[in-house]
Amino acid sequence: MSLTPYKSDIIQIGSLTMGGTLPVRVQSMTNTDTLDTASSVSQCIRIIEAGSELVRLTAQGIREAENLAAIKKGVRTAGFETPLCADIHFNPGAAEVAARIVEKVRINPGNYADKRASFIRQELTDSGWMAELERTRERLMPLIKICTEYGTAVRIGVNHGSLSDRIMTRYGNTPEGMAVSAIEFLKIFRGEGFNRIVVSMKSSDTLTMVMANRLLVRMMIDEGMHYPIHLGITEAGEGEDGRIISAAGTGTLLAEGIGDTVRVSLSEPPEDEIPVARAIIKAVAGEACRVMNPVASLEQRKPGEKWFPQVYTREGERFMDESGEPFTGEVLTVTPSGLQTMGGRQAYDRVLNPVFNYDNPEQLAIGAAALLGRFFIARHPAGLCISNSGTVQGDALIRLAFSILQATEARITRNRYISCPTCGRTRFNLQEAVRKVKAATAHLTGMKIAVMGCVVNGPGEMAGADYGYVGAGEGKVHIYRGTEAVIKNVPEAEAPGKLLELISSDQERRTPVN
Ligand code: SF4
Repeated sequence: MSLTPYKSDIIQIGSLTMGGTLPVRVQSMTNTDTLDTASSVSQCIRIIEAGSELVRLTAQGIREAENLAAIKKGVRTAGFETPLCADIHFNPGAAEVAARIVEKVRINPGNYADKRASFIRQELTDSGWMAELERTRERLMPLIKICTEYGTAVRIGVNHGSLSDRIMTRYGNTPEGMAVSAIEFLKIFRGEGFNRIVVSMKSSDTLTMVMANRLLVRMMIDEGMHYPIHLGITEAGEGEDGRIISAAGTGTLLAEGIGDTVRVSLSEPPEDEIPVARAIIKAVAGEACRVMNPVASLEQRKPGEKWFPQVYTREGERFMDESGEPFTGEVLTVTPSGLQTMGGRQAYDRVLNPVFNYDNPEQLAIGAAALLGRFFIARHPAGLCISNSGTVQGDALIRLAFSILQATEARITRNRYISCPTCGRTRFNLQEAVRKVKAATAHLTGMKIAVMGCVVNGPGEMAGADYGYVGAGEGKVHIYRGTEAVIKNVPEAEAPGKLLELISSDQERRTPVN
């Protein structure tokens, strides 16, 4: 694949400039109730003090949108000029209020005007398609006028799993559907002469997120568009796994010169996301925080080609395979700067042996995943042997190698837990729920289990998960199998057990009786 010649335009979001060759910006989102002014102001300040250059808050209704004025005043009074962004789903009225108050509004094409995804496939004629698109355009007009008048920026934020029924009907839940959904909105805004836009394609899985962004870039280039791009893996989870998957996906695109701003969505206090985002950017782009010489995207290994990457260990000059036997195949030992520029088929069917120099395990995990992700997303290397001249040694390096293979879905050796970062819609302690769900299901392997804060967006955004644990109101949880809520309103204390019962009974039904 040829080098991506994408260079975004520079846009202004309040006091912040973004795009072009400016440093990649970092941002986060509050998880307070947007009606709780004091908590929201305090959390905005904590996020800003951690280094965030933009702060997003959920505005699910008109009242929340209106209260952004008080929150903005509190933040400004405390001496911070950092722009605020309202996060809108399903409620154009809230967007129109927020656009008069904050510097940026994020809308989701999957639910702004179109009917939200019901996951029921419907037929739509060309004329029906065009009529719905025209209705979307009309629905966007008031927002475009307000944003033009107030100088408010807009993020067109597409999420895999919350595409509209209309898009799903024609494209399915695919990277193409995501890119088409964004391009439709971009054309409507551009048609009105509005270009203060950022666009994003997010998914909880690295390959979908990477493919959708590459496709978006190609389609924007064809359309003569150069909008800045916001990057992120949604519902990345928590701890080391959340950091590794975020670094693998985001790092891949940053290396290709794609991405002007990053959010790492962890199920942790939002201010903790900022150093992770900075570490990812630094690992790929260095102190400039912007890759000046992007690499070409690696060609994907052909589907159906046999590939099962192994984890190796290094003893001096010898490499040992997973059974402890000496490995005699081809090994490519490479420095981090070598990884930054390596392209083509150099790693193809070879064991990759990067040599890092970290004393901090978290920094090593982020740095390694950010640089190695693109090779395993493309399914190139025959295996991975991580070496480190710093103090992180031994089993930690083996675990890290397996974690990178897991995050890129190169090799699944344990469950994948998807969990949302929470926001003002969350009505329970999600971090606690994640811990309980992990404990209840730790003996299983290869499952994708989602823990989501609300039924409004959770079910759509966990699409692809085998099972879901979704907050359904104060102290109540719905348990999902795929996209279907099969047990509803379970008291929170019983929910991890009910989830495990459901999984176990499904497994028993699938196990043939001799
Ligand atoms: S799933 Fe719901 S609670 Fe979680 S971040 Fe998304 S909107 Fe907020």
